[in-house]
Amino acid sequence: MKDSESLFEEAQKYIPGGVNSPVRAFKAVGAAPLFIDRASGSRIWDVEGREYIDYISSWGPMILGHSHPAIVEAITRAVRRGTSYGIPTEMEVEMARLIVSAFPSIDLVRMVSSGTEAAMSAIRLARGYTGREKIIKFEGCYHGHSDSLLVKAGSGVATLGIPGSPGVPKDLAELTITLPYNNIEAVKSAIDKYGDDLACVIVEPVAGNMGVVPPRSGFLEELRSVTYKRGILLIFDEVITGFRLTCGGIQNLAGIEPDLTCLGKIIGGGLPVGAFGGKREIMDKLAPDGPVYQAGTLSGNPLAMAAGAATLKILQEKNNYETLEKKTSYLCDEIKRIFKKRQIPVSINRVGSMFTLFFTDSEVFDFASAGRCNTELFARYFRGMLAHRISIPPSQFEASFVSLAHTDEDMEITIKACDKVTKDF
Ligand SMILES: *Cc1c(COP(=O)(O)O)cnc(C)c1O
Repeated sequence: MKDSESLFEEAQKYIPGGVNSPVRAFKAVGAAPLFIDRASGSRIWDVEGREYIDYISSWGPMILGHSHPAIVEAITRAVRRGTSYGIPTEMEVEMARLIVSAFPSIDLVRMVSSGTEAAMSAIRLARGYTGREKIIKFEGCYHGHSDSLLVKAGSGVATLGIPGSPGVPKDLAELTITLPYNNIEAVKSAIDKYGDDLACVIVEPVAGNMGVVPPRSGFLEELRSVTYKRGILLIFDEVITGFRLTCGGIQNLAGIEPDLTCLGKIIGGGLPVGAFGGKREIMDKLAPDGPVYQAGTLSGNPLAMAAGAATLKILQEKNNYETLEKKTSYLCDEIKRIFKKRQIPVSINRVGSMFTLFFTDSEVFDFASAGRCNTELFARYFRGMLAHRISIPPSQFEASFVSLAHTDEDMEITIKACDKVTKDF
């Protein structure tokens, strides 16, 4: 039988760094990656048969838990009819209808195969529509790894401490203006300076890729009004938050209509999916009706549409989001109580069923304040929790996700593990 360690060794012979996405390397927490054999509900099993309660949730998609019977059934039914045709299916229409009806700001939506593609395409469309080239993004926000957006980004880029990636042309990076999250004054001065050159502002309306950082009261509203006044498009990247906190996005909860929205993760039900959509007038500029080109061989793939649509339908059932809210707030309150008892300074940011335990005693409201965390202490906490069979993201700058499959018993086991792990801190 293979163990994770020997698989990782073998993987490094054939795959750069042994992983197909950098955050999976567990580098920041001084551990070797787990190789997973299977997953069900709230649990994952590594190749050595060890069982863990999982809060990585595939970085967000698994809101129903792993291998949910209805999703397995939907994918199985779809696969019997063929895996891809490259020409339209009814499922794509159904998926689009589900998304459009959940988001008042979306008249038309185009499916793609990843969140990266969604954000990259939305930026191209914003540039094509406005005829302008500069964009504003926020430090610590991650919008996938396309060239324009890989500047002072969050997620693995933050974890590995890579502020700007080699390979991104300087001329392109210069068109991306990065500003501190939650700082509307910085946005106003940038708009004063670059106003008519700005195509768009892209933002995670609740940041999830520098750890969870909620928007300060008024931040999103002001973003909407200052961009609107100058004809700058506002893009909400709801790849994590779409269907995570409500059927729809943060925009539904906040009552704000961005011009374009990016989606991914949950809407694919665990298969590779992304989408971007928005106002008809803007979306009409896309090929084939308009001149802005965007395409994908596997876009709207039948298996992905089946998994995604089945997920969204289950989420529409009653009380799911209240259940998630209740479970996660209980878990976070108990964790907070334990750290208080142990007198270890932490700051917990939680929005609905996503949260981050920051190892700092001050409020985390942007990338700089997230950067003040004690990442060594986090790494110790991570390794301790893993030893107690609790799987949390292997980085201080990521969100933990609670799913509908997490039971009250899972919560109690997690709380007990936290209590034991912090005992010898
Ligand atoms: C995960 C994520 C992306 C990128 O999605 P991929 O499917 O990994 O390409 C983009 N934006 C946000 C906010 C994300 O969390």
